[in-house]
Amino acid sequence: MRIVVLAGGIGGARFLRGLKRAVPDADITVIGNTGDDIHLFGLKVCPDLDTVMYTLGGGINEEQGWGRTDESFHVKEELAAYGVGPEWFGLGDRDFATHIVRTQMLGAGFPLSAVTEALCDRWQPGVRLIPMSDDRVETHVAVTLPGADGGPGERKAVHFQEYWVRLRASVPAEAVVPVGAEHAKPAPGVLEAVAEADVILFPPSNPVVSVGTILAVPGIREAIADAGVPVVGLSPIVGDAPVRGMADKVLAAVGVEATAAAVAEHYGSGLLDGWLVDTVDAGSVERVEAAGIRCRAVPLMMTDVDAAARMAQEALALAEEVRSA
Ligand code: GDP
Ligand code: CA
Repeated sequence: MRIVVLAGGIGGARFLRGLKRAVPDADITVIGNTGDDIHLFGLKVCPDLDTVMYTLGGGINEEQGWGRTDESFHVKEELAAYGVGPEWFGLGDRDFATHIVRTQMLGAGFPLSAVTEALCDRWQPGVRLIPMSDDRVETHVAVTLPGADGGPGERKAVHFQEYWVRLRASVPAEAVVPVGAEHAKPAPGVLEAVAEADVILFPPSNPVVSVGTILAVPGIREAIADAGVPVVGLSPIVGDAPVRGMADKVLAAVGVEATAAAVAEHYGSGLLDGWLVDTVDAGSVERVEAAGIRCRAVPLMMTDVDAAARMAQEALALAEEVRSA
């Protein structure tokens, strides 16, 4: 079975670990979000690709959900001693090596997709991990910063990481823009994988800044909608709130309420054939089905790998239901 998954960071990576356990023999291609990518200290950092790679490769910091296990922060401390920031982005010493290798290879002329493949040679994630695009796409968030007098101050666009990590989404996101997406091309292998897939899954990743950014690359949304195979998603919203993180803030920016049903409607029946909501949201199944999307309520908390594997099994079962309907 050939499975294509559109993944952000933590939600995507933890789901993928379950999917691998549920169907060890499946051929899994992951299309990774690169809208969160940022240049720091002259280095190209790809947080979502690395979260997937480290999680599936056994190098992730489990409690945190991102970054390396057994990490130290000497380089960051030394940079800070020189007064060189930003200090709000936590790059550890082990993690730095990944970004150095990536930046060196990009500088030598390799596209990001080839660099990602090379990094995965070490981590052996057990999936084919492809960035959504080799072209630069950077998600920016329009915000109004608080003024010195406590009232509304300057309105400006900040990099997604600045909004998420430095500001911790403490001010409303007025708009979310994947800068560069409209001119980006899907990376080599992306459209081919979609065309050859037996099933396409949206893990419980952020619908705006993870899956939404991937879908913003021209050609990807169309290819998925036209693939003619079941497309099934899992809700990242449980009980009217994101399970972790601040997805409600970016959903508000696109005018979508933070409920499992509203996210399904946001993707729409033109894209989604099936949608899983958590059992606490069983009351919304009817609303999702009324939108033309087959819906089931099952436990959606990835408390451990087995729980994520059961979610993956449910998603694949729903895909089969769609296929034979
Ligand atoms: P990020 O790039 O690291 O933010 O990760 P993703 O975009 O892949 O996933 C973030 C989303 O995962 C958040 O909106 C969370 O609500 C969701 N999420 C995290 N853990 C769980 C879980 O155990 N169950 C469900 N249903 N969603 C989860
Ligand atoms: Ca992310």
